[in-house]
Amino acid sequence: MYQKTIDEIHEKDPELALISVGSIEQHGPHLPIMTDWAIATELGKRVAEKMDAYLLPAFPISTCREQMGKKGSVWMEPVTFYQMMTDIAMSLKLQGFKRIGIIQCHGGIFIMTPLVRDLNAKNNPDLLVALADTCNYGSVLYKEGILETSTELHAGESETSMMLAIAPETVHMDLAVDEVPTVPRAWLNYGGVLRASKSGVWGEATKGTAEKGEKIFARMTELIVDDLTKEFEYMAKKEKYNYSYF
Ligand SMILES: [Zn+2]
Repeated sequence: MYQKTIDEIHEKDPELALISVGSIEQHGPHLPIMTDWAIATELGKRVAEKMDAYLLPAFPISTCREQMGKKGSVWMEPVTFYQMMTDIAMSLKLQGFKRIGIIQCHGGIFIMTPLVRDLNAKNNPDLLVALADTCNYGSVLYKEGILETSTELHAGESETSMMLAIAPETVHMDLAVDEVPTVPRAWLNYGGVLRASKSGVWGEATKGTAEKGEKIFARMTELIVDDLTKEFEYMAKKEKYNYSYF
């Protein structure tokens, strides 16, 4: 959509805008720092095609302070992300967009939940904001047999497979390792990923293949479309409750 002219977009008058959010951060010894952004770009394109949406370019930088320790991961303050997303949502609303779908392709955006909740509480029913968090799909893909492992939080079987499918020239499979930290995810409050995992991998990267990557993209696209559609439907059918549309 961003390759179209403004007149083409204005003429088409889309109601749904899609924002795919990535991150620039360490992804172990074998994957590039652009991994989440590259995945966000690809998923955004696929979902936009299925939902006939206005797609913004994938956002490269969000919040990833838990990835600090080696030079090259870049983040903004959570409050800045909240404000940035709110500004963008308001600019879309002013132009007549009725729905915004956010595709979250990086696990560490902990301010996403209050952001989405606040946008809906403040703007329903004029603007509906739905969120599809790709972190939720690992267990589904594992149950369906698309993934062999259920240990991944970061740079494991799934992300390695996806990068092998879309940018194999950037993946160093000879350096891929399996490392599954023993601390729970919530302990990222007490020390970054590189404290818990020496390699920066949280999962089993050696299990990644391009063939799996293609299957993951296809299935994730369906899951995202399904989640966003159901969330929009749930919000759209709500009636006013006393003073509240939320
Ligand atoms: Zn990632």
